[in-house]
Amino acid sequence: MRLYDSLTREVREVVPVDGRTVKIYSCGPTVYRYIHIGNMRSFMLGDLIRRALRFEGHPVRWVMNITDVGHMTDEVTDSGRDKMELAEADEGLSAAEIAQKYTEAFLHDADLVGIQRADLYPRATEHIPEMIAIIQRLLERGHAYEVDGTVYYDVTTFPEYGKLSGNTLDQLRAGHRQEVATDPNKRHPEDFALWKKAGPNRLLKWPSPWGEGFPGWHIECSAMSMKHLGERFDIHTGGNDNKFPHHEDEIAQSEGAVGHPVVSIWVHGGFLQMGGQKMAKSARNITRVTDLAEQGIDPLAYRLLCFGTRYRSEMDFSWEALEGQNRRLTDLRRRMAEWSAAPRPERLSPAGTELDRRFREAVSDDLDMPQALVVVNETVGAAGLAPGERYALLASWDAVLGLDLERDVRERWEPGPEVLELVRRRDRARSAKDWTAADEIRSRLQAMDLEVMDTPEGTKVRPRR
Ligand SMILES: [Zn+2]
Repeated sequence: MRLYDSLTREVREVVPVDGRTVKIYSCGPTVYRYIHIGNMRSFMLGDLIRRALRFEGHPVRWVMNITDVGHMTDEVTDSGRDKMELAEADEGLSAAEIAQKYTEAFLHDADLVGIQRADLYPRATEHIPEMIAIIQRLLERGHAYEVDGTVYYDVTTFPEYGKLSGNTLDQLRAGHRQEVATDPNKRHPEDFALWKKAGPNRLLKWPSPWGEGFPGWHIECSAMSMKHLGERFDIHTGGNDNKFPHHEDEIAQSEGAVGHPVVSIWVHGGFLQMGGQKMAKSARNITRVTDLAEQGIDPLAYRLLCFGTRYRSEMDFSWEALEGQNRRLTDLRRRMAEWSAAPRPERLSPAGTELDRRFREAVSDDLDMPQALVVVNETVGAAGLAPGERYALLASWDAVLGLDLERDVRERWEPGPEVLELVRRRDRARSAKDWTAADEIRSRLQAMDLEVMDTPEGTKVRPRR
């Protein structure tokens, strides 16, 4: 598996630092409003990397944070108000209620576009002590200074500042000359806050060695990634807009605290545009995943649409293109249902083997999903490929594609006489309290790739997803 590393600007092989499990950290949602399909494209990138690595046989641990404090309305100058507190004022709910509401909405929408749940969703508000510990290490190592209850990172102590985004201090300084106001407590205008003193109206605040306050946005990702994945881990993902200042500052914090590189590969996804504009609340072109369903479109068609563009490129969204992919997905599932009746091959034919090789190569080549879709198309149309072989190939690739290609097969499925007989025997065994026999029959049904459910009406079975 090879991925483009935004830091070294080259495509690099994924080699787990612990020699076994690939550890991935993804910047997750800020939960003060609904997530739109543009944000979702960036979260789908983390899911796709995990699916692709598992497809290659790697164990993976995936952590995605939930930002429920510290994300300000103005990140570049760190002035402005906390987005959670603004939402609180807007909605009349407490910050915790707002975080809960939008976290649930996010997970719901993520499920709909086929994002498999991460192994862990740590919340910023539950990691304040870890953030304080890193800030203390930065103070001890001379990377930070405190002024009147606020702690700043001194960017001049980290000579590599700017290595990810290209925003070096020289360049930033040129930009700052035009700016009017900077915080007079900062030693340098480019310094950023690690911890901020709470003002009198601040609701979200915690005690700290520097008095009551709250963390800056960036420190949460240093704290949560290193707590849950260790001081060296493999992949960090985010959107292009996270490169600066968020990830640049995370690198300065994490490497400043531990004294060595933490992340092996930085992966960034491109924006989603609508009518040539970045999808953003301010541009009033927001679409939620649930809006797609309301338009009669399967949210997984959006997933398929995204595969048509390389993840690093900006992608233009149009309803026409989405409707086209919705028809394509419906057609794929219908064909799968037709082919499902055909016998599966014992082994792949030479043509099938070649298609499988090309699909796998496309996925492991920095997630070349447009090329993977070319192989899918060829498989659907290839002359001389038996229907059962087409089915077997597409069903196995769906572990990466996540398009639920066997949905129609499942929905149209009827148990055959052999299965019906096993179900009857199991119900008789259960009535007779012969649990050994009932368990033995359950195992036999499961070995036939069936899910076995005990219901008040007796045993029910259906194909396993
Ligand atoms: Zn982050």
